[in-house]
This record gives sequence, C-alpha cells and structure tokens, in this order.
Amino acid sequence: MNKDYLISTIEMDCPICNKVHSLEQRKRLTQSIVKDEIVDYEEVYYLCPLSDQEENEFVPAGLLDENLLKARDAYRQKKGLLTSSEIANIRSYYGLTQSDFSALLGWGDVTVTRYESKTIQDETYDNIMRMVYENPLFALECIDKHKDRFTSDKYTKIRKNIANKVEEVGNLYLKKQEINSLYVNFEEESEFNGYKKLDIEKVANVIGYFSQFVDNLYKVKLMKLLWYADAIFYGRHGRSMTGLVYKHMPLGALPIAYDEIIYLSTVKVIEEMVYDDISYRICPNKEVNISDFSLEELSVLETVATTFKNYKAKEIVEYMHREKAYTDTLPNQVIPYSLAKQLNELK
Ligand SMILES: [Zn+2]
Repeated sequence: MNKDYLISTIEMDCPICNKVHSLEQRKRLTQSIVKDEIVDYEEVYYLCPLSDQEENEFVPAGLLDENLLKARDAYRQKKGLLTSSEIANIRSYYGLTQSDFSALLGWGDVTVTRYESKTIQDETYDNIMRMVYENPLFALECIDKHKDRFTSDKYTKIRKNIANKVEEVGNLYLKKQEINSLYVNFEEESEFNGYKKLDIEKVANVIGYFSQFVDNLYKVKLMKLLWYADAIFYGRHGRSMTGLVYKHMPLGALPIAYDEIIYLSTVKVIEEMVYDDISYRICPNKEVNISDFSLEELSVLETVATTFKNYKAKEIVEYMHREKAYTDTLPNQVIPYSLAKQLNELK
C-alpha cells in the first residue's frame, strides 16, 4: 500500500505557496469506496516539495476526474464489468462514436458517453455491450433495428464495418456456440470435465500448441494428445487443463465436440486423401502465444508433445487402448478423470 513514485516534475503556479515553481507529479496506490465497495486504484497527485505545511499536496480538477475514473474502473474490474476503455474498444472495433454506439443499441444519445466518463453500467447493459462485441451478427441485427437513428450515409458505412466483422469472426462465434451447446450437460464441475468448466480459448490454444510442435498432425492423433494433456494435468493438479469431456470410442478417448473444436481459429484443417480415405491434417494457423499458458500447463504440453512426437496415429491409439481409463470403461461411456490418474508410463 505504500507504493508512491515520481512520474514527472512540472513548472507551474503552486496553489500552496502561491508562486511558480517546480512541482512533483506523483502516483500512488490508494483506496476508495465505490458503491459501498472498497477498491484499490492508482491515484495521481501533485506535491509541493517546498512547503513545510501539513497540506503539501493537491489534485487539480482535471486530474480529479481521471482519478475517479480509475477508481470506478477498479470497481468494474472487481465486479467483472467492462471498464471505460473496454467500452471504448468495442466502439472502435466497429468504427463507432459514443453516440453511434448508443444509437445502435437504441439507448439515449449520451448513455455510452456517460458509461465512458462517469456512470457505472448495470449488468444488463454490460451484457448487451459484450454481446455486440462477441457476436457481430447481433451487432448487425441491432443496427438494422435502429436504422432510423442514423443518416443513410452513416448507416451504410457502419453496416459495412459490421458486415466485415461478421465475415471475419461470425463463423467462429457460431462454432463456439455449437461447442457450448454440446457441453450443456457438463456445466457443473465434476469428474467428467476434470472439475473445470470447458474453456474454449484454452482448447484452441492447446490445439494450436500441438499443431506447432508436432509435425504431421492428423485429427485422430490430436484427439489422443488432448486427452493425455488433460489426463496428466489432472494427475498432477487435480483438475483438467481444458475442461473437455472424453468418451470411450473405438479409437481411444474422444472429446465431445471433436468435430467442432478443430475449426477454432488457432489451426486450419486440410483435407487429404490417404489410401482412398479422407484424412484431416491439422496445421498451425497463427503463432501460439506461449504466455497464454501457465508454467504448469507448458510443462504438461511439452511432456505430451515430446513423448508422442513420432507416434503414428495407429501407435498412439494402441498405446491409449492399454490405459486403465480405456480398459475400465465401456464403449460410448464418458471417461471419468479419476481413471486418468493411473497412466501407463507417463506422469
Ligand atoms: Zn509550492
């Protein structure tokens, strides 16, 4: 709590000694009460180094507003609400001004302006803004619904921006919805999801990791790598890495939504003919950001990738068939993570 540091010095009229001299602009971690809630935030203030009075610091009006904004944003973060800059980012994602964003949502002209400057949005409004960002199709619906709030030029321009986003990420959004709908019975933490709710971003990152570090990666092998990553992580930490739920299938453990998860944005799928059969090769689509993983996760991913790097699909399937998780479950049965604790050789 005693972090207090100098940002800059500034020559100005000092209200404490009523003359122009050099003042220190400083920053410190402080507390404030927002909506009955104590929050920590960084406050900027001015210090007069010449004064020997008790009151040797002050906050000019403009800075006071900034400090208040920071306190409110700290509250928002604590409550899981969008911060003022996150709201601004959603607007600029679609090229909207504050009043455009309000109009798009059918709200009063200055609602968004207030959210970005002083008022804290309630959860309903927060969810709507979030949805506009996550689902461009919803944004498109909104602008069509409130077309009369825009000039025709402006409407055309904004609609085009949104349509571009629909093309870019709309399919991905639908893919995520499909995956979530297949996991609707596994929303509670249990031994089926390894005491972790499905984390689609994590699944995408793990698949991206394997596509980058394992050559010649095909769909069947990828599914086993995912299971081993989750199983080993569970063995070490008592919960799965991704929250995927796996079933006992002829070719070993297979996650629910196996057909959908390979179409997340970290990889691209190339269909190839191998011996008259279509194979799905998994290739990296974008550089995986290693910092998206914890050290514990990386350690497990590396173990799995190096162990099975040179295994052919058939070999890894046979290897998995010998696992207790497989021999002790019936066809189509969900494999409980408790059985993943005893793995053949891997730990
Ligand atoms: Zn002074």
